[in-house]
Amino acid sequence: MTTGKKTIAVVNGTGRQAASLIRVASAVGYAVRAQIYSRTGIVAEELSQLPDVTLLEGPLLGNTTLIDNLFTGAKLAFINTCSQAGDEVSIGKALADGAKRAGTIQHYVYSSMPDHSIHHPQWPALPLWACKFTVENYIRQLGLPSTFVYAGIYNNNFTSLPYPLFCMALQEDESFEWRAPFHPDMGLPWLDAEHDVGPAVLQIFKDGPARWNGHRIALTFEVLSPKEVCRLFARALNRPCRYAHDPKIDIHVSIPAGYREQLERIEVLFGQMKAPYYPGPEFPRPVEGAKDPESQRLVQEARHLWAGWRGMEEYAREVFPVEEEANGLDWMN
Ligand code: NAD
Repeated sequence: MTTGKKTIAVVNGTGRQAASLIRVASAVGYAVRAQIYSRTGIVAEELSQLPDVTLLEGPLLGNTTLIDNLFTGAKLAFINTCSQAGDEVSIGKALADGAKRAGTIQHYVYSSMPDHSIHHPQWPALPLWACKFTVENYIRQLGLPSTFVYAGIYNNNFTSLPYPLFCMALQEDESFEWRAPFHPDMGLPWLDAEHDVGPAVLQIFKDGPARWNGHRIALTFEVLSPKEVCRLFARALNRPCRYAHDPKIDIHVSIPAGYREQLERIEVLFGQMKAPYYPGPEFPRPVEGAKDPESQRLVQEARHLWAGWRGMEEYAREVFPVEEEANGLDWMN
């Protein structure tokens, strides 16, 4: 397309992070070229109808042709890989190589996550996160102008379906209970990925590498303890919501093998060892929730990038019941 617009290359376009960016970028006049795994589904259908959004369907693993098509002529890139697509290190490195080869990328924003094991001898690496940190280091070595965003815990992980870790379980008396290994007062960083990744990443592109080259940015707008999360859910939904601290994560559904290991290590890392979600020395380390001054410092950068963020209470009131209804549940009626 010869629109003269700047093109943003994106992968995993139907994922929550990338879709959030595609929607806002298209709305304000960027061209987007996005890899997707399948055209089936409502998000792919929605994206296919947005102005100047081109979808490239196919896998990323071992797919140099698609990767070359993705980056040709693109000036900006937002790369967030996911484990379902196969070896994230190999995919992440191939994407960085492709961006370098294209020769036109001015700013490469990579959605990274930490490797806790390098920060403390007793902290285990979380397998689904540490692979992203390996790729981050590779991108740094390639010398691409790059910025590394670290997503907080998604608000919309919560569901009353029996998925592990963020199950907001409906009780017989119509109250909710969230059961997890986090200490009840431990400050956790939250992110409404669908609402807030797009605007924040767009602002990073607008500021450019002159402002953000080499930086790590905590994409979190709110630090809340589990007790505070439940208080906000209770207020938003007008029914009791209690937090139950449980060192073991219950697994009642079938989950991919890698995710089981991730959950077992989360029990140790955040439950037993109370490690900070963001372990790097550049990140403030809240011990408690919203009132901890370190919590305020941790969210400062993201709030500066994007002031219109959606907090947990708004999520619980406006979005959670809609998502639940879409999942076939009817407690909200
Ligand atoms: P998502 O979870 O919303 O979407 C997953 C994508 O995977 C979808 O696009 C889907 O089409 C695709 N997919 C599903 N099955 C597939 C398969 N078999 N093969 C290939 N693709 C398949 O994506 P997202 O939330 O934008 O990104 C996920 C990443 O975000 C993960 O790496 C995760 O570790 C990271 N992350 C998540 C959280 C959180 O709280 N959930 C926090 C920080 C980081």
